[in-house]
Amino acid sequence: MNSNEIDIHKELKKYFGFSQFKGLQEQVIKSLLDKQNTFVIMPTGGGKSLCYQLPALILEGTAIVVSPLIALMKNQVDAIRSLSSENGIAHVLNSSLNKAEIAQVKKDITSGLTKLLYVAPESLTKEEYVQFLQNVPISFVAIDEAHCISEWGHDFRPEYRNLKSIIHQLGDVPIIGLTATATPKVQEDILKNLDMADATTFKASFNRPNLYYEVRTKTKNIESDIIRFIKQHKGKSGIIYCLSRKKVEAVAEVLQVNGISAVPYHAGLDAKTRAKHQDMFLMEDVDVVVATIAFGMGIDKPDVRFVIHHDIPKSLESYYQETGRGGRDGGEGHCLAYYSYKDVEKLEKFLSGKPVAEQEIGFALLQEVVAYAETSMSRRKFLLHYFGEEFSSETGEGADMDDNVRNPKTKVEAQDQVVKLLSVVRDTKHIYKSKELVFTLIGRVNAVIKAHKTDSQTFFGSGADHDEKYWMALLRQVLVDGFLSKDIETYGIVKITKKGLAFIKKPESFLMSEDHEYNESEDEAIVT
Ligand code: ADP
Repeated sequence: MNSNEIDIHKELKKYFGFSQFKGLQEQVIKSLLDKQNTFVIMPTGGGKSLCYQLPALILEGTAIVVSPLIALMKNQVDAIRSLSSENGIAHVLNSSLNKAEIAQVKKDITSGLTKLLYVAPESLTKEEYVQFLQNVPISFVAIDEAHCISEWGHDFRPEYRNLKSIIHQLGDVPIIGLTATATPKVQEDILKNLDMADATTFKASFNRPNLYYEVRTKTKNIESDIIRFIKQHKGKSGIIYCLSRKKVEAVAEVLQVNGISAVPYHAGLDAKTRAKHQDMFLMEDVDVVVATIAFGMGIDKPDVRFVIHHDIPKSLESYYQETGRGGRDGGEGHCLAYYSYKDVEKLEKFLSGKPVAEQEIGFALLQEVVAYAETSMSRRKFLLHYFGEEFSSETGEGADMDDNVRNPKTKVEAQDQVVKLLSVVRDTKHIYKSKELVFTLIGRVNAVIKAHKTDSQTFFGSGADHDEKYWMALLRQVLVDGFLSKDIETYGIVKITKKGLAFIKKPESFLMSEDHEYNESEDEAIVT
């Protein structure tokens, strides 16, 4: 049986009641029905679950769905069961089941009743289960939240690393990996770790045209700035993210005192209070939830009108996920982040207590957040570039929806400087990250530069007529415009692209927008 022999539209209608596929679903489903390894990258809400649920319902045998969170698995199983008169159509296999329940699950799988079996990665490593699954027909294995396999994702789970060898023990079954995190680095890790370089990849656009992105300088007056902002959005729902529980409590209190209906949410509150606060938000008994990142997983409130980051997030993936909870219904979604370099230093200090590998990754991810906050180019273009997606800041959907585009900084001609920068990247032969490249241009020495004797090269100091900040800003813009690229394998090493080499040969006008000056003086709250 291949995908041409099945009327998948009919099956979609029959099981889910939908008359059309969403986005890339149809192609993904066909690929899986044709037994291809398949890789799906779609933003949250894109409709990933259906990509494996429908084929599982259509195909012979049981599909194994690996998922990291028990709560998510339970929701999914309930949803699938509601489509059928048979409870056995979907099961969860985990450590909380007793012997009788496990026997029932096995019976339903053996009899062919179970179409979807949800398992946590650690359950799948159990020898007993592997042996059992080796002897029943498996239609395919779906790896949900596949980014958990990568240390570069925001939710690394070491158990995900064992999946490949277990799946191989199950025989020649197709794999579908799904994720909403799609930096090129994570993407590469997933394909490598699941040993599916041959997978057909489907990547949906991550652009959310109705979200407005804004960054404001964080000053001492941040609370009054936030209060003013919320009052301008009176009666609307919003989320404020903070990095610590203490901050969550403090901000919630300040808002309450100022007549804004707000509740705190963080992992330090007991489960009952958390559930109560979440319900209050969903039922619109309160307007604002002040939360740590513990809040939001699986929250599907369509009309969240603003997402404020009181503190900067640890990575742009987290930022994208968190802001993604705004404007789900396609209506207004204002994403406001407060930025101060002091926050960055705090996060760096926090990271310095971690194991070295984790530190390096953490620093690199944080650097991208800094670049996003400090950039004066289209924030949407910047974010999408980070996810490996090209975006035209002139004609792309939602192109004018950010502070930098609405209030552009002055642009200056930088053609000669771009040539200088590109030449230094070429002539240092791809050994340096941004920092060393900029140091080479301004003629500053550090240990790395000394070690490579770059300070004795003729081009050392060739850009001394501009400062470090200027070159860093130019480098970021040139990267985003594709004249340079960052190496995925050695994360951070900057290389020149074909486009860059062509620019050196035949330079053209390059208008650079000057970066924001960040003034952190106490009395300079920026208020719109
Ligand atoms: P993701 O896992 O990518 O975050 P979900 O699988 O939870 O997304 O799907 C998001 C929403 O879209 C769900 O409410 C789902 O019922 C709905 N949905 C999925 N596919 C379709 C479709 N073909 N037509 C209409 N709604 C769909």
